[in-house]
Amino acid sequence: MIPPSDRTWIGDVEIIRLLDGTFRVDGGAMFGVVPRTLWASKAAPDRENRVTLALNCYLVRTPDATLLLDTGVGPDVGRRHTDFYSFDRRPGLVESLAELGLEPDDVDVVVNSHLHFDHCGGNTLKKADGTWAPAFPRARYVVQRGEWEQALTPVERDRPSYMPARLKPLAESGLLDLIDGDGPVAPGVEAVLVAGHTAFHQGVKVTSAGRTFFYAADAVPTAAHVALDTIMSFDLYPVATFDAKKALLARAEKEGWVLGFSHDLKIPFGALRRAGKRLDVVPAEEAEND
Ligand SMILES: [Zn+2]
Repeated sequence: MIPPSDRTWIGDVEIIRLLDGTFRVDGGAMFGVVPRTLWASKAAPDRENRVTLALNCYLVRTPDATLLLDTGVGPDVGRRHTDFYSFDRRPGLVESLAELGLEPDDVDVVVNSHLHFDHCGGNTLKKADGTWAPAFPRARYVVQRGEWEQALTPVERDRPSYMPARLKPLAESGLLDLIDGDGPVAPGVEAVLVAGHTAFHQGVKVTSAGRTFFYAADAVPTAAHVALDTIMSFDLYPVATFDAKKALLARAEKEGWVLGFSHDLKIPFGALRRAGKRLDVVPAEEAEND
């Protein structure tokens, strides 16, 4: 069941957090330079020091289009990744969609924040003959050109994060829509670069009736990452993340945006709250009732 707290409206756009399951990752890797004594109060680690994280995808239903922001890790997680991250795909993205009465054919646009395997694994599906085909056969797949190039020719440092063989069929299918920098994706929906996690990492901004939802993806993977120095050790360019996140949050606070996070299990929609110097996140529904 998709709980009511996983659904919200921004003007006349309905936004639903869809899970592609959960995984576990070392808390130190997730929270970067922040000491365990600080982050452990927000995310209790297991015996192996791992925290449970969500694979969040967001379904955006505007009057014009149905969009999917990120596609999770997908059903064909490799053995190496499964063992390492303990993926639990119950439910998976396609089952989550089915709960809404939707099929892959109903998705018009897929936007990938970036192409690390846990954000685009559901883009393609493995066919019986071992080749890969688009999982959303009618969709346009919107990806930053720089990110696409990186994913198809990864360097030593980021090779474990990319799976080029699974992505290539998208280009051959004609469904791939490479964009350069910020730009419109659909009416009321805009791609916005928030670089740092990767050089061309992007967020997605949805605006309707004067309100804004922003999917920050791995720039702010959980509510705890609103703290500026809380930056994943997976980030390729942490200083860039710091700067991009600072600018993003300043705008989000000023304009009262609702935020979506890529890996927060408990808070699918967050609103910013300031207590003196400290910026915090509360569930968006709580903020609305104030
Ligand atoms: Zn991620």
